[in-house]
Amino acid sequence: MPPKNPSEIAREALRQLSVRKLPPTPANYQACYNEIAEHPNLAGFPELNLRKVALTLSARDSAQQEQLEQLDAAISRHSWQGIEEALSAFFRSSATASLSDGNATANDGAASRLFAKFAGMIENGLPALGNEDAAFARKTAEFLRILREPGADFRSVQGALGDFSHRLSLVSEEQAEIKTALLDLLHLVLENVSALSLDDSWLKGQVDALLAAVKPPLDLRRLDDVKRRVRDVMARQSVAKVRSMAAQEEMRQMLTAFIERLSWMSESSSTFQSKIEESARLIEKVKTIEDLAPLLQDVIQTTRTMAEDASREHDQLAILQTKASATEAEIAKLQQDLLIASDSARHDPLTDVLNRKGLDEALMREIATTRRKETPLSVALLDIDNFKKINDSLGHESGDAALIHLVNVVRQNLRPGDTLARYGGEEFVILMPDTVLDDAITAMQRFQRELTKNFFLAGNDKVLITFSAGVAQFAPEESGPDAIKRADQAMYLAKRTGKNRVLAG
Ligand code: GH3
Ligand code: MG
Ligand code: MG
Repeated sequence: MPPKNPSEIAREALRQLSVRKLPPTPANYQACYNEIAEHPNLAGFPELNLRKVALTLSARDSAQQEQLEQLDAAISRHSWQGIEEALSAFFRSSATASLSDGNATANDGAASRLFAKFAGMIENGLPALGNEDAAFARKTAEFLRILREPGADFRSVQGALGDFSHRLSLVSEEQAEIKTALLDLLHLVLENVSALSLDDSWLKGQVDALLAAVKPPLDLRRLDDVKRRVRDVMARQSVAKVRSMAAQEEMRQMLTAFIERLSWMSESSSTFQSKIEESARLIEKVKTIEDLAPLLQDVIQTTRTMAEDASREHDQLAILQTKASATEAEIAKLQQDLLIASDSARHDPLTDVLNRKGLDEALMREIATTRRKETPLSVALLDIDNFKKINDSLGHESGDAALIHLVNVVRQNLRPGDTLARYGGEEFVILMPDTVLDDAITAMQRFQRELTKNFFLAGNDKVLITFSAGVAQFAPEESGPDAIKRADQAMYLAKRTGKNRVLAG
C-alpha cells in the first residue's frame, strides 16, 4: 500500500531521489512525489518530449541498441542521470564507429600518424612523376599540407584525396606516355645513325648494342652496361682523336717542308741552268785553251755543288718519306684501334663476354646492390674439362669455336640479371644476383644439361663439352675475390673428384 499522508509521501519522495541517485532538483522531487502519490505526472519531467527525441536515434549495432533500451528505461524512471549516461554511451560508440568507417570529422593521434605516413609515401613517389605539371605540384603541396595539419579531419582529407588522386592518374598516364615517346624517339635516332653509318662497322656495333639495350622492358643492368661501353668508347675515341690530329699536323708540316724543298731544288737547278748557259756562251767566245781552263773549273765547281745539293736533298727527301710512312702507319693503327675500341676495354674479343676488368666492375656493382637491398648474391666459377685435349685433337681454332659455343649455350640460359665473364683461358665466372646457393647450383646443373643437349660441332664431329664448377654464396661483407676463391676451391675439388660436376664452396 503506498503511503497517502503528504508528509510520508514527501519523505518517501526524498528517499526515492537518493535510492535512484537522482539529482535533488525540484522537477525530480515533484516527479517522485507524483509517482508515490499516484498523481499523474503533469509537469516537471518532459517524458513525452524525451521519447520523441529518443525515437530519432537509431542503433548501428547491438551495443547501441542496448544503450537505447537503457535510455528508454531511464526516461521511464525519469532519471536524468540515467538519460545522460545512456546518451553519452550512445554518442561515444557512434563516434568510434564513424572513425572506423571514415565519416567522422574527429581525429586522434593514430589518424594523424597515419596521415603523416601517407604524406611521406606520396613524397617518396613524387620524383617518378616529374615536375613539369605546375597544377599537380600545387595540388600535391596542398594535399600534403592538409595531411600534415595537426588534428586534420577525415572529411577534409577525403575531399582533398579525391582531387589529388584524379590529378595523380592524369600525371602518371602522361609520364608513361613520355617514357614510351622518348624510347620511340631514341630508337628512331639510333636507326637513323645506324643507316647513315653502314660503312662504319665500329659505330654500327655500338648503335646495335644501344638499340638492343633500349628495347622494353627496360633493364637497368643492361642500360648500365651499355652506358659503360659507350663512355669507354668515347674516352678512347677522344684520345685517338687527339693523337690522330697530331699525326695529321705532322703530315701537314712534312708536306710543307717537302714543297719548300722542291721549289728550292727547282730554283737551284735553274741557277745551275743559267750558270751552265753562261759558261757555254763564254766557252764559245774563248780563243785559247788557257782561257778555257778557268771556265771549265767554274763549270765543274757549279756541277759539283749542284750534285752535292741534289744528294743532300735526296737524303732529306728520303728522311721525310720514312717519317711520312711512319705517320701513315700510325694513322692506320689509330683507325684499327677505334675499330676494336668498343669491345677491347671490358669485353673479351673472342667470346664477347666481359673480361676481367668488366667482371671487376660488375662485381663492385652487384656487391653494392646486394648490401643495399640485403638480397643474396652467388658466384660460380666453371672450367671446361679436358680442354687441352680438344685443342690437341681438333686444333686451336676449333678450341676457340668450342669456347664460343659454351658461351652461347650458357648465355641463352642465363637469367637477364646474371653476368657472364671470361675469367681466364677456359674458365668463366657467372654472377647471380638475388640467388641463394642452392638455386645457383641448380642453375649450373641446368647449363650442364643444356650442353649435353647442344653438342659442339667441329666439322662433322659432335663433341660433348663438359665443365666442372664451384659455387659460393657471398657472406655478408665478403669481398669479390674472396667469394671467387671459395668457388675456385670448390671447382678444384670437383675436378679431383671426377670432373663434370658442380660443388658448393
Ligand atoms: P682440366 O679438365 O683439368 O681443366 O684440364 P684442361 O685440359 O681443361 O686444363 P689445362 O689447364 O691443362 O689446359 C687448358 C687449355 O686451354 C690449355 C690452353 O692452351 C687452352 N686455352 C686457353 N685459352 C684458350 C683459347 O683462347 N683458345 C683455345 N683454343 N685454347 C685455349
Ligand atoms: Mg683451367
Ligand atoms: Mg680445364
